[in-house]
Amino acid sequence: EPTAPTNFIRTIIDTDLSQNKNNGCVVTRFPPEPNGFLHIGHAKSICLNFGLARDYADAPGGSRCHLRFDDTNPTKEEQEYIDSIKETVQWLGFEWGKHEYYASDYFEQLYRWAIQLIEAGKAYVDDLTAEEIRAHRGTLTEPGKNSPYRDRSVEENLALFEAMKNGDFPDGSKVLRAKIDMSAPNLNLRDPVMYRILHAEHHRTGNAWCIYPMYDFTHGQSDSLEGVTHSICTLEFEAHRPLYDWFIEQLGIHHPQQIEFARLNINYTVMSKRKLLELVNGNYVQGWEDPRMPTLAGLRRRGFTPAAIRNFCERIGVSKKDSCVDMGFLEFCVREDLDRSTPRAMAVLNPLRLVIENYPEGQSEEFEAPNHPNDPTMGNRKVPFSRVVYIERDDFMEDPPKKFFRLAPGREVRLKYAYLVRCEDVVRDPDSGEIIELRCSYDPDSRGGSAPDGRKVKGTLHWVSEAHAVKAEVRLYDRLFNAANPDGDKEVDFKTHLNPDSLQTVKDCLLEPSLAEAAPESRYQFERLGYFCADRYECKPDNLVFNRTVTLRDSWAK
Ligand code: ATP
Ligand code: MG
Ligand code: MG
Repeated sequence: EPTAPTNFIRTIIDTDLSQNKNNGCVVTRFPPEPNGFLHIGHAKSICLNFGLARDYADAPGGSRCHLRFDDTNPTKEEQEYIDSIKETVQWLGFEWGKHEYYASDYFEQLYRWAIQLIEAGKAYVDDLTAEEIRAHRGTLTEPGKNSPYRDRSVEENLALFEAMKNGDFPDGSKVLRAKIDMSAPNLNLRDPVMYRILHAEHHRTGNAWCIYPMYDFTHGQSDSLEGVTHSICTLEFEAHRPLYDWFIEQLGIHHPQQIEFARLNINYTVMSKRKLLELVNGNYVQGWEDPRMPTLAGLRRRGFTPAAIRNFCERIGVSKKDSCVDMGFLEFCVREDLDRSTPRAMAVLNPLRLVIENYPEGQSEEFEAPNHPNDPTMGNRKVPFSRVVYIERDDFMEDPPKKFFRLAPGREVRLKYAYLVRCEDVVRDPDSGEIIELRCSYDPDSRGGSAPDGRKVKGTLHWVSEAHAVKAEVRLYDRLFNAANPDGDKEVDFKTHLNPDSLQTVKDCLLEPSLAEAAPESRYQFERLGYFCADRYECKPDNLVFNRTVTLRDSWAK
């Protein structure tokens, strides 16, 4: 793997280290909200944050990256998501060791800090409804209006906030707000809400709390408590930075530096957990781990490798400018890794029977086939051959055009690793007229695939022996959306762009017998067909299931 190219964040860290800022420490964090599975966009943030900790291991004060669950919203968060996030970060190849944190562990501290701000006259309890608060907020061109409750006394605010905490008020009846400036040009500074009332059970704190801190009052303080030095987030938080800084300055606590970078967007998919959840709940896909989903668990199940995803994240780089990356580039990265790392095998997805009439009945033999065409360290395997084999239906045409180099009546092709065969005749189903079998002859002197007389045979086909083949179900995936930017038009529901043909299930495929024991998640190149991965959950020796990860060539280019 290439080492990470430098980027503007590294430049900031280098400068900080050269000035011995933060005692020479580099501490980053990846802070997911456990309200869904991680997606490929999160991979960019994971690779960036954990990658910095890895690459600054020699910093004078050391380096580390925390995994912090940003779990302040009890109604949307679940343990299932925490488990999958942890599994996915590890699968991607990163370790947080003992540095696993939960914002909910800071609820008590955050509550005390809120009281500190009330005491300093910097926070107040507001009785306006959410709608009224919005209406008072003003716009970019119009200053906001002060709430009539803004000038409550410190004593009253302390009493009311405690009563909020004690459960004396219903949801939505009061909030705690920071007292900053209702005419600030930055709307985030117009007395933002710090706490809301929510009588909801939290997946970790149970019913201990009925007030919950907002993101803006939680994130920076959590960073500070953990000694984070560089708090890296996506660009939409740029306008929140003054607020991040304001809370920390008011509280007089360790001040991490927030740095924003452009989020990853990829075409032909959506990358918001809310939309992904909508696909899951509406059964448009088979769960978060559906191989068509842009979730990391989905990509894993499809056969993407951690190395390919890390490589992709390095190559797209880190910048301050929003952009959209081609799905084709992600696939290019995975294809490159799989080409290098996967053994080859033969599989026939749409079998057509081929009988070699001059090959003795009941006889069979084995061919030695390399597992990789240019990596001898991957060894060889034995591929059995006999009188009846199957080829791909697409590899035969009764009436072929000139440029068709595969099998046709009277034509000769090579069965890979085996013999040259010639099609002598076709057998049809008497009712449908469909061709159900090819009658062929083989050249016994062409063992290994070349004729002693040197005659040229262009086509080489993959095949499996009928007597030895194993059956499998194969799942072929196409893009989940037909539109390059499915959520680009706010007037149109993104689901209208779903591709109805994104999944094609092919039963009764025939595989060479070396695949009979394929372990879940083992990956292969099925020759001429693409890269495939044994399904993580469903592939069993008596029920083989393979997912196509990618085709051999780019199918995205238009
Ligand atoms: P979404 O909008 O998809 O729900 P989110 O930002 O709400 O994403 P979080 O769980 O809060 O999801 O994200 C955890 C971290 O991952 C955050 O620091 C966030 O900035 C980062 N992240 C999320 N989406 C992307 C993306 N598309 N590209 C880069 N980083 C991302
Ligand atoms: Mg978030
Ligand atoms: Mg979100």
